[in-house]
Amino acid sequence: AKQGGRNTYRFFTPEMQAQSARALTLENALRRALEREQFTLHYQPQVCLASGRLRGVEALLRWQHPELGAISPAEFIPLAEDSGQILAIGDWVLRTALAQLNTWQRASHAVPGVAVNLSAVQFRQPGMPERIRQMLAEAKLPAQVLELELTEGVALDDPQAASATMDQLNALGVRLAIDDFGTGYSSLSLLKRFPIHKLKIDQSFVRDLGEDASDRALVSAIVRMAQALGIETTGEGVETPQQLAFLLEQGCTEAQGYFCARPMPGDALPGWLHAHPQA
Ligand code: C2E
Ligand code: CA
Ligand code: CA
Ligand code: CA
Repeated sequence: AKQGGRNTYRFFTPEMQAQSARALTLENALRRALEREQFTLHYQPQVCLASGRLRGVEALLRWQHPELGAISPAEFIPLAEDSGQILAIGDWVLRTALAQLNTWQRASHAVPGVAVNLSAVQFRQPGMPERIRQMLAEAKLPAQVLELELTEGVALDDPQAASATMDQLNALGVRLAIDDFGTGYSSLSLLKRFPIHKLKIDQSFVRDLGEDASDRALVSAIVRMAQALGIETTGEGVETPQQLAFLLEQGCTEAQGYFCARPMPGDALPGWLHAHPQA
C-alpha cells in the first residue's frame, strides 16, 4: 500500500521525493543499527512535585549513525513501526532499561523505577505480556519497577483486545501510563475501561500555561479528574519554575522536563542524584 499505484507517483513533488528517499535510506540503515550497536538510551528524571524526590526515569532511545549523525526518535520510530523493526528494537530497549535499573539499584542509587515507551505495534504483538514477564524475571526485578508508556492510539481499532492486554499487564504488576494525554481521541473512555496508573499531560498543554487561560483550565481539569479516579499525573515538558509552580498548586503528582533535568546517559544519573540529594 505504501508504494502507491502507478498513477500516484506522478504527483510526487521534488520535496516528497527527497523525503521518501531519506525514509528509505533510514529504513535500510535501521536494519543494521541494532547489530552495529548504534542505539543508546538516555534517561530523564521524573520528579515528585510535593517532595522534589526522584520517582523514576523515562528511557528515551537515541540513534547515532556514523554518516547520518544523530537521528531523532520522532523521525525513525515511525519508520521502525512501519517496517516491523520496532519489535526487535523495542525488546532491546526493554532489556537495556531493566538492566540499567538493576545496575543502579545494586549500586544503591535511589532510582525507584523506569518508564519505557511501548509502541502500539509492540503492544499488539501476541504474547507481549508474557515477554515482559520473562524480561523482568531475567533482570531479577519486581514488575512494580516497570512503567509502560502507551499512547491513546493503542485502543483505537480494537478496544476489547487492548483492554484484555492491559488487564494482563496489570495482573503482572506492571504500571501503565498514558503518554501525550489529551492529544488522542478516546481519552475519557480509556480511563473508564482500562487499568491506568498515570496520565502524562502532553507538553503542548504545559508549554503555554503562562499565557493561555484555556490550557490552565484544561490542565487543572485533567489533574482533578485523575485525582477523583485515583490516577497519578505527570506534567511533561516542564521548562520554567512558573509551569512547575502551577502544576504543584493544581496537585499534579510529578514533573518531567528540562527545568528538572535533561535526558542523560545512564552513567550520569548517579552524579545527578548526588547533586540533588533525596533526603
Ligand atoms: P515522548 O515519549 O513524549 O518523550 C518526551 C520527549 O520530550 C523526549 O523527546 C524528550 O527528550 C523531550 N523533552 C523532555 N523534556 C522536555 C522539555 O522540557 N522541553 C521539550 N521541548 N522537550 C522535552 P525525544 O527523546 O526526542 O523523543 C521523542 C519521542 O520519540 C518520544 O516522545 C516517544 O514518543 C518516542 N520515543 C523515544 N524513545 C522511544 C522508545 O524507546 N520506544 C518508542 N516506541 N518510542 C520512543
Ligand atoms: Ca513517553
Ligand atoms: Ca509524552
Ligand atoms: Ca510525544
